[in-house]
Amino acid sequence: MRCLMCEKEMGKGGLRDILFGDDPLCIDCRRMWKNRPVKFYLDDVELNASYVYNEAFSGCLIQYKELADEALKDVFLFEKLKWFRRKYRGYALVMMPSTQQKIQARGFSHLKEMFACTKMEIIEPFEKTADTVQKGKSRRQRLEMMSEIRLKEGIVLPEKIVLCDDTVTTGSTLRGALHALKGYSGKIQIYTVSANRRWYRPHSLHFTDRKAIIL
Ligand SMILES: [Zn+2]
Repeated sequence: MRCLMCEKEMGKGGLRDILFGDDPLCIDCRRMWKNRPVKFYLDDVELNASYVYNEAFSGCLIQYKELADEALKDVFLFEKLKWFRRKYRGYALVMMPSTQQKIQARGFSHLKEMFACTKMEIIEPFEKTADTVQKGKSRRQRLEMMSEIRLKEGIVLPEKIVLCDDTVTTGSTLRGALHALKGYSGKIQIYTVSANRRWYRPHSLHFTDRKAIIL
């Protein structure tokens, strides 16, 4: 078996298997990911993230998403599966939306594939009306983006949902989803596989008065 990122041959059997099972990444590539679970609140909704969004993580995500390397789909939750299934037992997983253009360009729904390994219920109730790049946007423009996510017509949501995304950068996309859920009375949680470094610095969380807890 070869590592899906660096293509190095990984030994089968022995200590590696005992320690890491069938991790599709080699030990060196895995080590470059910063496994640092963090919990904070986004508009009073609990958000848990597992990794720091660093170069190694973003490199893998880009290869998966933008270069459509579908084989990487299971590497993101590999170390977190057990925890995830326990934490969100009874919840339906709500995928954050991509635009139709993006889904077509990739040929697959990248988040749905990423979370399929949980074997939990996955729903895609949102649609995105426009594709907007967050970088370089003012706070006002980002707030306007909120209206670009809406619930598809006729959607009935389950009682407990967890919004799932690959990363949280400014939080504006997730806020857009929360905004679209205004009339929903069920229980909401958020999980993102990774989080931008800013979320690891409690003093910078100017959106909320609660502190981030690094677990
Ligand atoms: Zn590797």
